[in-house]
Amino acid sequence: MSTQTPVKASNAMIRNPISKVKDEHDLRHKDILLDTKLGQGHFGDVHKATFKNKPVAVKTCKATVDAATRRKFLSEAYILKNYNHPNMVKLIGVATDRHPIYIVMELVQGGDLLKLLRDDSKTLSVLEKIKMSEDAASGMAYLEGKSCIHRDLAARNCLVGTKNILKISDFGMSREEEEYQIDSNNMRQIPIKWTAPEAMNYGRYTSLSDVWSYGVLLWEIFSRGSTPYPGMNNNEARETRAPMVQKLIPFRA
Ligand code: ADP
Repeated sequence: MSTQTPVKASNAMIRNPISKVKDEHDLRHKDILLDTKLGQGHFGDVHKATFKNKPVAVKTCKATVDAATRRKFLSEAYILKNYNHPNMVKLIGVATDRHPIYIVMELVQGGDLLKLLRDDSKTLSVLEKIKMSEDAASGMAYLEGKSCIHRDLAARNCLVGTKNILKISDFGMSREEEEYQIDSNNMRQIPIKWTAPEAMNYGRYTSLSDVWSYGVLLWEIFSRGSTPYPGMNNNEARETRAPMVQKLIPFRA
């Protein structure tokens, strides 16, 4: 750019510099030390790790995936970057300087809520369950205030921290409201038993459809982590809601 020399072959000239301003979320692999595996994510393993002498959680994305999948993996971090609430899992940063790429998050010690609800050795009191429900509502209200639709609220996607503080996690399916468009290729990934009829049938995702999922989450909390619509498979659960769907006003995109 400084010599105004054309770039070889293309003859293009660089007119404006794009400086790589280091973002506070831009991390380096060398500063992150992976430890034990915490769980299995959709894109790769999730590990406990150390960053700046503090314990963190690291979501990894398998090195073998294509660029589109990598972008999808990172979309969760781009959404979380703008959010800060005690009932939402906090993003620390992303490390993309080599593979596998990492999303680094606060470590939420208690793991996921579904596991906790199903753990017979731990009994939660009704008050504790109400408090968790309140935490989830608080996190979701914050999200609504940011015009973000989660689209996958469920006990498996909530984490439980110290003092049983619940944190909404797993923003892999979430969208900023105005950006959302139904993608028929993604239909298969819809968590049927947690999804509102209008979202399921017309792709009409709003904060209200998140409220439906919140209702299912309450049911999970107070049934000790049972699977909703017990004894029914996804299609059967969908059928039970058919009368509701008929009453819906079809959504015109
Ligand atoms: P993905 O969105 O890629 O499917 P998840 O968010 O579901 O991955 O993470 C998989 C598992 O890893 C969770 O069920 C949970 O047990 C663990 N996990 C994820 N994030 C954290 C975290 N911040 N702290 C502690 N454990 C976590």
